[in-house]
Amino acid sequence: MPSVDVVVIGGGQAGLACGYFLRRYNLRFVILDSEIAGGGAWQHMWASLRTFSPARWSSLPGWRMPEQGSQWPHRDEVIDYLRHYEQRYQLPVRRPVTVRNVTAGPRRLHLETDHGEIRARAIINATGSWRHPYIPAYPGQSVFHGCQWHTVDYDRPERFRDRRVLVVGGGNSGAQLMAELAPVARASWVTFEPPRFLPESVDGRVLFERASRLWRARQAGEANDETAYGLGDIVQTPAVREALKRGWLYSVRPFCAFTANGVVWPDGREEAIDDVIWCTGFRPALGHLAGLGVQDAEGRVAVEGNRSCVEPRLWLVGHGNWTGFASATLMGVMRNARQASEGVARLLEARRVRSR
Ligand code: FAD
Repeated sequence: MPSVDVVVIGGGQAGLACGYFLRRYNLRFVILDSEIAGGGAWQHMWASLRTFSPARWSSLPGWRMPEQGSQWPHRDEVIDYLRHYEQRYQLPVRRPVTVRNVTAGPRRLHLETDHGEIRARAIINATGSWRHPYIPAYPGQSVFHGCQWHTVDYDRPERFRDRRVLVVGGGNSGAQLMAELAPVARASWVTFEPPRFLPESVDGRVLFERASRLWRARQAGEANDETAYGLGDIVQTPAVREALKRGWLYSVRPFCAFTANGVVWPDGREEAIDDVIWCTGFRPALGHLAGLGVQDAEGRVAVEGNRSCVEPRLWLVGHGNWTGFASATLMGVMRNARQASEGVARLLEARRVRSR
């Protein structure tokens, strides 16, 4: 069974950022990724998607994303950037390799993959959340004859032309899909609360700077009461801004239940619906860690910084605020990846010294 110092599970942006930092140490490491090609979840996002920050604010450590025309890089530019990034730093990515289970031995962690077993002295988990979409339970859902989709299924608006569609979810995905569907479908937007839009001048860069200030204040034990914008508030991308101007981003509160043909609204009115698109987010894709017994009832892992409290040879990178501020973004994952790589290097060096 092959053995390495470190396995990074996941070869999207978070895994690549870890690879960038791990190269600094004299460690044997490999990045295992279940995709056929590089680019992580970006390869599966919808066709018109653009980032919510300019290129220089959508970059991984070491190499800035090249600026190509539009201020807001297109999905394909991000994929291209991630593939070139991998080559530029000659990162040891093996794909397609899926890690199915991880168990703990006294000296090594054992990874069972669809290409055999591999042992490691430490693991950095960077598997994102795209493979674990979340759809809330609704009364009558199973009797509904219409189609139910999630953001992960959406590619372009044509399929929904002239259909009666509900877009559910008040985040960036819901707003962007609604902006795209409003002119072609009979679409309504359903959100739990009235959606909060950021001012036109606030993009992902501003949010990232704010997250950094919050992080620094917390590290220094200082108070920071910047609450003007939330990281979950909707960024006014050009398409969203245009849709707002046209009055397409009007939202209603949720329906109470499904019927066979549609939904029932709180006032008792029934409406026929063809499609429901759930833009209701994701949960961390951590099923392969079940054998380590590190997950809580919500499927999350208790961490100190971004290191597991239960399994000290396991770090988690890129899963969002619970593993580090803004760590589920291109720019924000850098700090998280550096922290994990330094932690791994320290642990392995300490063990090396002890075993001399
Ligand atoms: P992923 O990109 O999901 O990569 C994880 C990799 O791990 C995948 O390649 C997957 O195949 C692999 N994997 C999973 N399980 C296993 C396993 N068991 N074994 C082996 N491999 C495995 N961020 C920004 O900075 N700017 C934006 O404008 C922006 N827009 C977004 C728009 C949408 C619609 C969404 C959903 C997210 C957006 N984000 C944006 C957030 C973020 O950049 C992405 O979610 C990003 O893809 C997360 O990167 P990751 O590497 O953590 O996960």
